[in-house]
Amino acid sequence: MDVSHILDELNEAQRQAVTSESQHTLVLAGAGSGKTRVLIHRLAWLIQVQHVSPMSVLAVTFTNKAAGEMRARAQNLLQVSARPMWIGTFHGIAHRLLRMHWQEAGLQENFQILDADDQHRVLRRLIKEEGMDENQWPARQAQWYINARKDEGQRPDAIEHMGHPMTATWVHIYQLYQDYCNRAGLVDFADLLLRAHELWLHNPSLLDHYRNRMTHLLVDEFQDTNAIQYAWIRLLAGDSGSVLVVGDDDQSIYGWRGAQVENVQHFSRDYSAVQTIKLEQNYRSTATILDAANAVIANNEDRMGKKLWTAGDKGQPITLYAAFNEQDEARYVIEQIEQWLSRGRRAEEVAIVYRTTAQSRLFEEYLLRASVAYRVYGGQRFFERAEIRDALAYLRLVQNPNDDAAIERVINTPTRGIGQKTLSTLRLQARESSLPLWQAAQHCIQQNVLPPRALGAVHGFIELISGMRERMADWTLGKQMQAVIEDSKLVTQYEKEPREKMESRVENLSELVNAADAFVLPFEDEEAGMTELQSFLSHAALEAGETQGEAWDDCVQLMTLHSAKGLEFPLLFIAGMEDGLFPHQRSVTEAGDRLEEERRLCYVGMTRAREQLCLSYAESRRMYGSQSHNRPSRFLQEIPSELMQEVRPRMQVQRPWASHKAPVYKKSNSNIKQDWPFQLGASVRHRKFGDGTVISFEGSGEHTRVQVNFHRTGAKWLVLAYANLSAV
Ligand code: ATP
Ligand code: MG
Repeated sequence: MDVSHILDELNEAQRQAVTSESQHTLVLAGAGSGKTRVLIHRLAWLIQVQHVSPMSVLAVTFTNKAAGEMRARAQNLLQVSARPMWIGTFHGIAHRLLRMHWQEAGLQENFQILDADDQHRVLRRLIKEEGMDENQWPARQAQWYINARKDEGQRPDAIEHMGHPMTATWVHIYQLYQDYCNRAGLVDFADLLLRAHELWLHNPSLLDHYRNRMTHLLVDEFQDTNAIQYAWIRLLAGDSGSVLVVGDDDQSIYGWRGAQVENVQHFSRDYSAVQTIKLEQNYRSTATILDAANAVIANNEDRMGKKLWTAGDKGQPITLYAAFNEQDEARYVIEQIEQWLSRGRRAEEVAIVYRTTAQSRLFEEYLLRASVAYRVYGGQRFFERAEIRDALAYLRLVQNPNDDAAIERVINTPTRGIGQKTLSTLRLQARESSLPLWQAAQHCIQQNVLPPRALGAVHGFIELISGMRERMADWTLGKQMQAVIEDSKLVTQYEKEPREKMESRVENLSELVNAADAFVLPFEDEEAGMTELQSFLSHAALEAGETQGEAWDDCVQLMTLHSAKGLEFPLLFIAGMEDGLFPHQRSVTEAGDRLEEERRLCYVGMTRAREQLCLSYAESRRMYGSQSHNRPSRFLQEIPSELMQEVRPRMQVQRPWASHKAPVYKKSNSNIKQDWPFQLGASVRHRKFGDGTVISFEGSGEHTRVQVNFHRTGAKWLVLAYANLSAV
């Protein structure tokens, strides 16, 4: 069989890893050396050459985006469908397992995922109900404590507090919280992993089944696995499974969230017959960028040590721009991007990365004004907006009325006369009888323990949800979504808000209906026995933390350094290179390895660049509401000066926008279907919002959305089919 295409475009070391005959393989290598490529080619090799069944391969990556790419690339290499393969994130795969085996996992069939925001709300309330001082026992800290214990695989009864009162209290809160989740059929993110682990641990026959089935395990970004993920893979591998992991200790950036870089060392200890392979050639960056990144990371002490070289050109020097302030910085960056575009390069080749999410706002503003399409990763995320979460909570109740977190969210949203007092009575009843709120409410109605008005209101709510459940049973998802929004009268909740805000909420809700309409039950969810509704709700929860909307090709990408991991861009800006911002203030003042982790983050950032790396800092910056004057980042001093070229700032701080003639950027070789009624840059009119400029498109067909920068109200996303725009 001709398998040359699988081994083509691999160097000797990469080929060794792909074809490794030893049971376990550890690929330890620096950034851009082809680790992810090895993993994908290994997958293809196993299936095509070793005749491993696609169903026997499990590949784990760090983000849904990476998983999607891996699936597409594997499919491309193999020329067969990648559908039967288990490719996903740890959370996604754990979720799928729990859906398939909810009974063995001791879960309710309709269990829901509790995201970080809801988790915080639940904890705040539980702590308050216990009569504890919220200042002494903040919900954030409880959340952190609980998630950390779960990441270590610990349930409350397994925690030794040895009479230590503080620990004992946290454990008590943990227990309360867990009881609550169990009653309400809720599973938080950390619990997905822990439960998936316990599922196998407590069901040996099930574990056996999976050990026989999933014989080949592949893990990307291994340096950022936490204890429970490590244990989960170890358990599944058993004695006979084969494991290949790839990672880079210099890119371990999630220590603050429980990731354990030691897992890389433990791997050789815990598995037998491990072949360790180092990749030393970097294929991503110019020699200049690579040398600079190597020089920075060399300042860290505790490293496993790797050499990286490139056969590529020296390339352009790294540029360093010293801005007067953050406005000047944004202006400079956008100007550089415009130049790049005017040279015929594409917007999607460009990324702006920064340390904190708040930094994106200014760049967005300047990009908008320059009419350059952009996309923010993990910015204001669609599924995290209040109105979206409210509407989804109703849908969750249609799915499972015992979902207490959903009831808490919408029982009085919109206001329907169920006040705090009534709610307390319901909660008390629920706690005393160990029932979900839904049943406790019914109980209260039967026993007539509420004052008449409250009784009527609670009764009304129960009727509303029951009515929805009955009517909607066999409706399509889109129709259900539409109906819960209408029947709940959710929109009335926002009527007191400023008009613009309310309108944007209404738009988002109609967008949610579109999303529900367009939703197709993925094959793997169908296989796991999920209904369309279950699958949709899980996607909303699991993907909330990642991206905004559908991928839209040709636009500049904005993201934090953390979410840039694994990606690469020809032109990369790292903004805000100031001490106190990057490295982050916390890491400078706190003891331990924090500064080294920031430096690794810097290394990750720099090594995302392929052709040109542009660094910048602002001499003065408005941050958290006050003006600060920070020194240039210490990491800048660690870059050899001959690799860097300083760009002198202009002597004018800011041009007034009126005189700033942004060139209308026309996309050249876009691969997006050109069936839009407007060009990018076209002037359009909207009945309510007035005149504006079209700045980007997203999606296709009837789901096409258009972003218009309105002169009066700023940029808005609209569903093209409903927007009724006219050309001006
Ligand atoms: P990171 O540490 O950032 O995750 P990585 O080690 O996973 O990086 P890849 O993303 O797999 O590296 O590869 C980096 C780039 O180099 C990609 O564009 C990839 O296509 C290219 N590349 C890798 N190996 C080769 C090769 N043998 N020949 C040509 N290009 C290669
Ligand atoms: Mg990679």
